[in-house]
Amino acid sequence: MKTAISIESRLTTRYVQGYAHLDDWAQVCNARTSKSYVVAAPSDEEASDGGSTARLVVLTPAELQAARTTYRRVAGNGQVSFTNWMNRAIEETLSGGGCGHEYDCCGCASYYADAHRTKPREFSVVVRRSYNY
Ligand SMILES: [Zn+2]
Repeated sequence: MKTAISIESRLTTRYVQGYAHLDDWAQVCNARTSKSYVVAAPSDEEASDGGSTARLVVLTPAELQAARTTYRRVAGNGQVSFTNWMNRAIEETLSGGGCGHEYDCCGCASYYADAHRTKPREFSVVVRRSYNY
């Protein structure tokens, strides 16, 4: 099963994670993700550990071209390679969580993505889930 996603690059980091949508983002490209599968089960010892899942993010040639165009527009200073910039954009797109509680959080889930480019148009992503307590 494939799921369509829109990859976006976060341009500013003025807000805490739960309000990250209020920062400025650039649309990078569309992509599809494979069905995710569990790579680490939730830990019994640590209540905040919700386990990890992995999935692939795959771009078409046209989507890769769109991503490169966005990269040149928003990351044009050459400080970061296209691969590292794409890894980070995918991490930013798949990380997050609805929690905006800086204090007294109720235990909302947060997601931390770690992306690596595995082929020219394919990225392997591990998403770790944790709960705020
Ligand atoms: Zn919360």
